[in-house]
Amino acid sequence: SVPLGFFGGIGGAAKEGILIKGSNFIETLANVDTVVFDKTGTVTKGTFEVQKIQASDGVTEDYVLECAALAESHSSHPIAGSLIAAYKNRTGKELSAEKVSDVKEFSGMGVAAVIDGVEVFAGNDKLSAPDKAAVKFANVDAAGTVVHVALKGKYLGYILISDEIKEGVAEAMTELKKNGVSDLVMLTGDRKNIAEKVASSVDIDTVYSQLMPGDKVDKVEELIAAEDKKSKGKLAFVGDGINDAPVLSRADVGIAMGGLGSDAAIEAADVVIMDDRLSKIAKAIGISRRTIRIVR
Ligand code: ADP
Ligand code: MG
Repeated sequence: SVPLGFFGGIGGAAKEGILIKGSNFIETLANVDTVVFDKTGTVTKGTFEVQKIQASDGVTEDYVLECAALAESHSSHPIAGSLIAAYKNRTGKELSAEKVSDVKEFSGMGVAAVIDGVEVFAGNDKLSAPDKAAVKFANVDAAGTVVHVALKGKYLGYILISDEIKEGVAEAMTELKKNGVSDLVMLTGDRKNIAEKVASSVDIDTVYSQLMPGDKVDKVEELIAAEDKKSKGKLAFVGDGINDAPVLSRADVGIAMGGLGSDAAIEAADVVIMDDRLSKIAKAIGISRRTIRIVR
């Protein structure tokens, strides 16, 4: 049977806006020594600003942005919302979404859609595989997230976008270390240069970039196996949604952001942080440790 004290812990956490979906997770949280974060929407805000549009010869910057925004018009990825907003802001026009059909989403890569009978691709360079855009994408040195835009057989250019780090993230990392978390890790499908910049600015020690959604599951499994050998500590994964459900399920304890999080992530998670503040993770661990001490 579950000791009554565990319910006190769940209640105490709920008052802080931390939803713990079962008393067993109090015990797991109390033993967490590795916290793995997804980047976009978890460490960063998930609202991208356009930094630069590079258009190929013969096309305008507005056209590149319009193609991207139309191709993204059915996607719920943070990049999609950001590009659609950027198009409206920059041109003052609405998107003619009725032109768009045959929408496809390639998780960890981007999107494709048919616009006025022509297939348009928007995404990172993994999307340039032969069965997709079948054109060579530009090499971009600048730090940032890159959305390449292409037609089948024709490269239109790219959009360089950047996201901001959420407030209080560096402080949240310090709190986690104070609460006995020895390893802070960030996973992302985004590029290495931007991933390392984000991680180092918030004192996350280890970063793995350019991962496909499935690679994130493999990486978490690898980290859990290494933990088991080393210290028997538990691993928490913190994510906001799109594509994160499998990783949330695989972690010893999956933590979702309730505000920005997708329904699938909230469903797959063991713990939900209602207001998206990363400082609540150290709080959840602290409450769990105190609960265990009282119960034992
Ligand atoms: P993260 O790991 O940062 O949470 P995702 O796994 O959702 O990001 O996506 C990884 C990468 O895949 C993004 O950085 C982007 O390059 C590309 N990508 C994914 N979805 C889209 C989209 N809808 N439009 C453009 N690019 C996308
Ligand atoms: Mg993500």
